[in-house]
Amino acid sequence: MKACPKRIIELRPKGPRGMRMFVSCVNKDKGPVAKKACASACIGCGICAKTCTHEAITVEANVAYIDPAKCKLCRECEAMCPTGAIHGVNFPKPLDKEAIKERIKVRQQKAKEAAEAAKKEAANE
Ligand code: SF4
Ligand code: SF4
Repeated sequence: MKACPKRIIELRPKGPRGMRMFVSCVNKDKGPVAKKACASACIGCGICAKTCTHEAITVEANVAYIDPAKCKLCRECEAMCPTGAIHGVNFPKPLDKEAIKERIKVRQQKAKEAAEAAKKEAANE
């Protein structure tokens, strides 16, 4: 870790039963350049940060970072990442992308309906 001249290696704290989430990319190049170098590079699209309801993800200089102190290990970011740059380790079950995407869709639909209802209510007052 200390030997790495670019300080790229990071020791991640373990979650329950050793589970952890991390972005396996530190490439700060812009999306197309990063993708050309590696098919599973982080392209800085921000989908993961928008998906995370715990504000655990930041995207800076075209690369995402997961704060282990905030991450609740839901794996939603992993399911949504278009390049596969996000990895979950030591989870007891394999990632069920479709089930997670469906869960996110239902949540977003409910939030949209609640916002519309609140808007209507405000208009009627
Ligand atoms: S969704 Fe994937 S590619 Fe996009 S910013 Fe997050 S980690 Fe990077
Ligand atoms: S696993 Fe869940 S809580 Fe953790 S960073 Fe990803 S979306 Fe956020």
